[in-house]
Formats: sequence, C-alpha cells, structure tokens
Amino acid sequence: MKHFSIKELTRSMTAERLGIDNTPPAEAVRALTRLVDHVLDPLREALGGPIYVTSGYRCRALNRAVGGAAHSQHMRGEAADITTYSREGNARMLALLRQLPVDQVINEHDLQWIHVSYHAPGRRQFLSIP
Ligand SMILES: [Zn+2]
Repeated sequence: MKHFSIKELTRSMTAERLGIDNTPPAEAVRALTRLVDHVLDPLREALGGPIYVTSGYRCRALNRAVGGAAHSQHMRGEAADITTYSREGNARMLALLRQLPVDQVINEHDLQWIHVSYHAPGRRQFLSIP
C-alpha cells in the first residue's frame, strides 16, 4: 500500500451522518489491501496523478443506506468507486484498467466514476451503466 490508506477506503460521509460504525473486519482489511496492491496502486502509478475514492468498504448497514447491490463486493472490501473528477482522466483510467488484474470494472454513468473490484481468480468483466 503506497498511495492509498485503509482510512480513505473506509470513510463515508453517509456513515458519519447516520451514525453507522463502518469499521472493517480483518478479512475486509486484507481484501482492501489486495485491491490496492494489485489494482489501485499500479493504476495510480500508470496514471501519474491523483485518484479519489468516493466509496470503498461498506458494512451491511452502510451498503443498505446507500442503495448498494445486495451482494456488493464493497461489503467484502473487494471494490472501490474511484474518480479523477474529470471525464478525460476517468477515460484514461478505464483504458489503463484493461492492463490490470481486475475482477469487475463498471463505467458508471458515462465516466462519472468507475467501480473496480479485485478478486482472485478474477472474471475480467467490463460493463457500462448508462
Ligand atoms: Zn461500486
């Protein structure tokens, strides 16, 4: 873990607002660490600029509060929603992710943000949500 911290992968304004304790269990911390080591850090190095995590680990209550999928990989610490806050930067990330050992990548709403997960062995599935 070089460019990301467990703290930034677990903090949530929604959790704070609703008083939800989003502290990850050890298993989720290990999964977040693998996500960073295999995908997020290499992506950050290839991109050469900052990547912002808008949502990483979500406990069940937080996942429900944000309307996440019932079996979301966020609940296991395997997924993060990331953005550069520019469509051009997000398009570059999407291209770079093709070279990395991802499980699932979702282009969310025409490059507003990207959902990325890591799980071994990965599916290497690339989707777009309009
Ligand atoms: Zn996501």
